[in-house]
Amino acid sequence: MIKKPAPQPSENLVQDQFLTVLSREEALARFEAALFPRAIAGEPRRLADALGFALSEDITAPIDVPPFDRSNVDGFAVRSADLVSASEAAPVRLKINGEVIACGVAPARPVLSGTATPIATGGPLPRGADAIVMVEHTQPSGVRAIEVRRAASPGQLVSYAGSDIARGEALLRAGTIVGSREIGMLAACGIAEVMVARKPRVAVISTGDELVQPGEALRPAAIYDTNGAIVTAAINENGGDARFIGAIPDDEAALEGAMRKALANCDMLVLSGGTSKGAGDISHRIIGRLGQPGIIAHGVALKPGKPLCLAVCDGKPVVILPGFPTSAMFTFHDMIVPVLRRLAALPPRPDAKVTAKVPVRIASELGRTEFVMVSLVEGADGLIAYPGGKGSGAITSFAQADGFLKIDALADQMPARTQAEVTLVTPHVRVPDLVIVGSHCTGLDLVTAKLSHAGLTVRSIAVGSLGGLAAAKRGECDLAPIHLFDDSSETYNRPFLSDGLELVPGWRRMQGVVFRKGDVRFEGKTIEEAVRSALADPACIMVNRNQGAGTRILIDRLLGEARPDGYWNQPRSHNAVAAAVAQHRADWGMTIAPVADASGLGFIPLAEEHYDFALVKARKQRPAVQAFLDALASEEARAALTKAGFRPAQFRRHT
Ligand code: AMP
Ligand code: MG
Repeated sequence: MIKKPAPQPSENLVQDQFLTVLSREEALARFEAALFPRAIAGEPRRLADALGFALSEDITAPIDVPPFDRSNVDGFAVRSADLVSASEAAPVRLKINGEVIACGVAPARPVLSGTATPIATGGPLPRGADAIVMVEHTQPSGVRAIEVRRAASPGQLVSYAGSDIARGEALLRAGTIVGSREIGMLAACGIAEVMVARKPRVAVISTGDELVQPGEALRPAAIYDTNGAIVTAAINENGGDARFIGAIPDDEAALEGAMRKALANCDMLVLSGGTSKGAGDISHRIIGRLGQPGIIAHGVALKPGKPLCLAVCDGKPVVILPGFPTSAMFTFHDMIVPVLRRLAALPPRPDAKVTAKVPVRIASELGRTEFVMVSLVEGADGLIAYPGGKGSGAITSFAQADGFLKIDALADQMPARTQAEVTLVTPHVRVPDLVIVGSHCTGLDLVTAKLSHAGLTVRSIAVGSLGGLAAAKRGECDLAPIHLFDDSSETYNRPFLSDGLELVPGWRRMQGVVFRKGDVRFEGKTIEEAVRSALADPACIMVNRNQGAGTRILIDRLLGEARPDGYWNQPRSHNAVAAAVAQHRADWGMTIAPVADASGLGFIPLAEEHYDFALVKARKQRPAVQAFLDALASEEARAALTKAGFRPAQFRRHT
């Protein structure tokens, strides 16, 4: 006898769901099969309000356009038979009838043989007439008569009733997107209202105790609700009518209430967050109670986006996007947009693709189709696709990418120099005029502002000094901002350059110890005294910097052999050090003066760091590079840098 396994407690249930990870294609196929085919709900709309909607019914022309035979020119309505013999040598004289047919005037008198009636462009052809003679081809001939010196064929310069659109003809088909041209055809037929596919109403709910709406103050440990705003906008961009409900805390009863209400009022529900295996992840457990068949896929072999959950509750799609903004947006565009557009009766979004070379090896997880967001820049021989380095937690990974490339589930990497197919997330490739790859500094924006205002596009890709230097050596960028300290020569940057690169001095950034104002261990002390008192206090915690950072070398020199608490906390940026101190996770660290100032922290200066540019000589004459060098040398930029706390280097412009 086979024993039935006992029902699992809920924690195991969650694990079970993740054990059945579907491929991306299988998940999408099951989701679509559970939703389609379905009838598209139509609604009447005034012509002016129908722009961008899909017609939900075929439209048949109710009248002929034009509604009558009409003249194409200013001239005379005639009988062509009268003019058969007309020529330069033998002009034919026609008497002018006593009416003028202007636009909008219905003719009252027939054109009898030997007569002509003046008619305006668009005027209705009078009875008896079968052709129009242009006014330029006639001459006045005495009182109320004209001479015609060339023959006219029947139908000449006449548009017949229904020749444009014939009554009963299929004017527009269901599914056509109403644009200005369609509106023109409908207006010509006198149609004031059309039936269009009603936009699906889509409720949007963010989940998480940590979420705060933009516009409100950020409490400690909270973050702004990014997904709510971006998902709402992306739904509206793809034919939906989004209703943002808000961010609901991780409370099962509250969330279930909000989900039920949303489903009662809307055609579809999109949540984000709470779909992984964490303790607070409850949204997917609620779905099972909301309608049949419930969850269709939970766990998709997709990166980013593995925890994506797809469900159908009594005919309505319910989706839980992963919480991380880039995962949420990527899965939304890849898996949800196709379904949403079908619900809205819109055609699939056209996928624009380009081929680009990947400059570096990209590692990938076996068994999951991996999508890598990339930025495109123009290389010496074609496009180059830089992988975004920030991961799926970063909103900019998606929002600043030009497109993405795909690494097959069966591959564990994409080798450097692969020619990869890139699917664009913007309608056009915007190859930037100036490409800066390397270390990022807020001072950089002060210099490039001028270029942007002059209409030049600048792409700055933050990969750190060493990454930038490597890109510059491969000739993949115009400039690489670097701040690398050479221990043996005790100088910055220059020792790291190779052939083909030239050093352009940038600015100096004062490095120093940062602390919370009022902390007596640091306030008013020299740097040596400050470090001594920090080391003397076992409760004092530091925040370090990553290996390879110029700042790290300074810290190690100050510390000598000491390894105080916090030494192994090694964030990668000046801002992260300031945040750690400001938020009391650490008491001191080393950062640059402008960053300390911006965070309202105390600062003891130590030494200046050199932030310079490795310029790729071969690209120096490019107009955008010249514009950058001009901007860097300009009084305006130097003043802005100084104001922000940087010290511009002695750089004078020479080409
Ligand atoms: P979760 O799946 O709820 O555990 O979320 C995963 C990560 O995404 C967490 O770091 C959340 O703080 C973050 N996250 C969840 N929802 C949002 C949101 N609406 N906006 C920004 N980040 C979010
Ligand atoms: Mg959460």
